[in-house]
Amino acid sequence: MKRLIVFIKQVPDTAELRIDPKTNTMIRTGVPSIINPFDMYAIEEALRIKEKWGDTEVIVATMGPPQAEEALREALSLGCDKAILLTDRKFAASDTFATSYILSKAVEKIGDYNIILTGKQATDGDTAQVGPGIASWLNIPSITYVKKMIEVKSDYAKIERLMDYGYDIIEIKGKFLMTAIKDLNEPRIPSFRGKMAAKKAEIPNWDAAYIGAEDKNIGFLGSPTRVVKAFSPPPKQGGIKTEGDDIETAKKLIANLKESHLI
Ligand SMILES: Cc1cc2nc3c(=O)[nH]c(=O)nc-3n(C[C@H](O)[C@H](O)[C@H](O)COP(=O)(O)OP(=O)(O)OC[C@H]3O[C@@H](n4cnc5c(N)ncnc54)[C@H](O)[C@@H]3O)c2cc1C
Repeated sequence: MKRLIVFIKQVPDTAELRIDPKTNTMIRTGVPSIINPFDMYAIEEALRIKEKWGDTEVIVATMGPPQAEEALREALSLGCDKAILLTDRKFAASDTFATSYILSKAVEKIGDYNIILTGKQATDGDTAQVGPGIASWLNIPSITYVKKMIEVKSDYAKIERLMDYGYDIIEIKGKFLMTAIKDLNEPRIPSFRGKMAAKKAEIPNWDAAYIGAEDKNIGFLGSPTRVVKAFSPPPKQGGIKTEGDDIETAKKLIANLKESHLI
């Protein structure tokens, strides 16, 4: 049987994150949670690949507190076959380095697989480091910003990746990790039957000991990042308007652009 592993993150359902000035951490109280929007495209793509291949299981996993189980149930309701919750007090305070280590240990515990899918970035942490981080712990290639799967077989894929200048076409053999962007597909909505089945599904909780994650690589101890200060950037100013069609106005415009380091 072929296997696809999708990593999802539960994130606050808000565009305006608030930071606790004392602890420098995110204020989550009172904010509803959703599956990170980019992860919905990763789930959808995995389900489409499964439908194409047949004889394939889609495993969805997340690292988070017990309530992250809710996100996994939503993924199951969409059609994922199995869900795993990676949860342990020891995982708290993990930065992206430690998080990707923990997720890579979960992959090793799951066993063989064909493709790992993640979102391009999480809408709260926003670093876009975890996908490539997992790949590097596992020593497999990663393809970021995937916008189209031109061809996908169990051991080969031809992929369009979004770039600043257009897109790359990449051919890849063997296992790999890909990160999904919103151009990739249109995520489905869960069926009533899917929702009912997801409610009853058993979701195993895996802790550090179970996946063989070493204490020195997880939590605060395994996290090289230190958040020195967290703050909201000041709101954007209105900018400078330069109107007119004479030489003087053009000169003024150029001077303003230079002063703002835009040319
Ligand atoms: C010093 C420090 C301490 C921190 N302490 C905590 C803490 O105690 N508790 C806490 O919740 N966060 C904590 N964080 C935040 C945590 O490290 C990040 O949220 C996490 O590593 C993911 O990074 P990101 O949000 O930038 O994800 P990105 O790299 O932007 O995410 C890319 C993709 O990776 C996958 N992904 C990301 N995170 C997860 C996950 N947890 N499970 C499954 N898939 C995932 C998703 O597919 C996602 O779309 C801490 C961060 C720092 C720097």
